[in-house]
Amino acid sequence: MPDRAGLPFEESADFEAAERGLIDTGDPVIRNEAGEVVWDNGSYSSFLTGDAPGTVHPSLWRQSILCVKQGLFEVTGGIYQVRGYDLSNMSVIEGDTGIIIIDPLISVETAAAALALYRRHRGDRPVSAVIYTHSHVDHFGGVKGVVTQDDVDAGKVQIIAPEGFIEHAISENVYAGTAMGRRAGYMFGAALSRGPQGGLGAGLGQTTSTGTITLIDPTVTITTTGQELTVDGVRMVFQMAPGTEAPAEMHFYFPDRRALCMAENATHTLHNLLTLRGALVRDPHVWAYYLTEAIEMFAGQSDVVFASHHWPTWGTENLTGFLTVQRDLYAYLHDQTLRLLNQGYTGPEIAEMIELPPALEQAWHTHGYYGSVSHNVKAIYQRYLGWYDGNPARLWQHPPQEKARRYVEFMGGADEVVAKARRSFEAGDLRWAAEVLDHVVFADPGHADAKALLADVFEQLGYGAENGTWRCEFLSAATELRTGNFGTPAASASADIVSHLSPEMLFDALAIQVNGPKAWDLDLAIRWDLPDHGASYRTTLHNGVLTYGKDSDRPVSLTLTVPAAALIALATGDMDAARGNGLTASGDEGQLASLFSVLQPGDPDFNIIEP
Ligand SMILES: [Zn+2]
Repeated sequence: MPDRAGLPFEESADFEAAERGLIDTGDPVIRNEAGEVVWDNGSYSSFLTGDAPGTVHPSLWRQSILCVKQGLFEVTGGIYQVRGYDLSNMSVIEGDTGIIIIDPLISVETAAAALALYRRHRGDRPVSAVIYTHSHVDHFGGVKGVVTQDDVDAGKVQIIAPEGFIEHAISENVYAGTAMGRRAGYMFGAALSRGPQGGLGAGLGQTTSTGTITLIDPTVTITTTGQELTVDGVRMVFQMAPGTEAPAEMHFYFPDRRALCMAENATHTLHNLLTLRGALVRDPHVWAYYLTEAIEMFAGQSDVVFASHHWPTWGTENLTGFLTVQRDLYAYLHDQTLRLLNQGYTGPEIAEMIELPPALEQAWHTHGYYGSVSHNVKAIYQRYLGWYDGNPARLWQHPPQEKARRYVEFMGGADEVVAKARRSFEAGDLRWAAEVLDHVVFADPGHADAKALLADVFEQLGYGAENGTWRCEFLSAATELRTGNFGTPAASASADIVSHLSPEMLFDALAIQVNGPKAWDLDLAIRWDLPDHGASYRTTLHNGVLTYGKDSDRPVSLTLTVPAAALIALATGDMDAARGNGLTASGDEGQLASLFSVLQPGDPDFNIIEP
């Protein structure tokens, strides 16, 4: 069991802050039009109370009790937050006649419920603007629950976002989307039953809602630090922070309210430099830099800092200290990892070596509830040096299944390894037991004793994890070992997001589905006239590669005229829907059939804990 020693459990400031300004706890369950539950905070709050049970790390238990608090809260005069209505927070800024909404959650249903809760207490104020702080779906997906596309088109509502928002918002889930979606199921524990022995939160918030995801294009793009904007009488000063927690992200300050919004770059956790679902590695160096800049630009004139997850921090001195410690955290991890890799240590070694300075360790908000020192340090190594550690014994290793077969044979066979692993498990050497049992399961996926024991090992690792996503990973793996593959429980790409893809992205989406070997002998050339985009493309499939170029007059065998809706249908492989949406062809139509015959869509049910 993890020990509580040395941590300031008696400190109550976070609990006071997480409850401060509560107006109404609102509703614990949110449903869609069909009556299906898309959000159930009550399924967590019902058991998250009292002391930590033996199946949960006490520090994660504490964090989860803080995260599960829900309702409408007053942050400061004219600024409100709805928290606990989704993974993220929705903030509301009152203007002269209406309101500005910051980050309308993941789903239309949760965002609409959050707005209704606000209006129940503050009146039926119209929405003047929506701000997306950054390009992650938990900060924009519910936008059509608070405004309509028509009102935006009519100029009644502005949609404000940082430069690069739309490209990143829609591209992140396209190229590696299937794999990320399957892995996100592990990371957020979507298949776990909720309770002290199952899912209790991801450290950043409870989990993701499962309603309808939408997107409206920004009408105002913020490009420059220091840029000012006044909307509905509300003055805002922006600070760009690209390449931090998201590739397109920004902070902003409300001078008339002395309030600072830090998007997702200063929360009550060590955040991810590389999220466990998989992503491009983030940059802790610029993250620390932009936190320094925010402190210098805004902290001294702020009475409160808030973010799109967790609770605010009040008081100029307090919030300056909070931002400074957050800054030091990312800078320390970055600099110390670089120092040690230049001493020749590898990622897994540095991850075991780095300890945070005592002052950082004592601040709850530096703890790894969502990111962790262990996986962030490896991510920094990966960012600078990549997967290879320079030792050629590790340059050309066998893949997991081949390696496992050989290891298990060398170690005396599966039964022998399981017997030894059981002794390691009983002695509490869980990491080693997981490693060797992983080899047995990969060498012999039918070995029931190995799978059962590995599930028990993962379960104990989950119970001991301070990190919410580590807990979900371990417990999800134990679940699959016991009851089989649960696939991808929560979809990440919605029709509304797909409809924002550019033609280039749609061609990319097709290209990465081409089954290379099956397409080696094909030689196709197709023109795509896209009237809704005012553009024409020529694609070729040659050597198993689909490439595209704009406005080429080189010869083709088939010309397609493809309205926008038909192009989206084609990108998802639905030829009938494409024709139904106005696709027409002239020339050798067999070319299109040949192209589609070699496409292999991603598999949302691929195996993880067995070969
Ligand atoms: Zn977020």
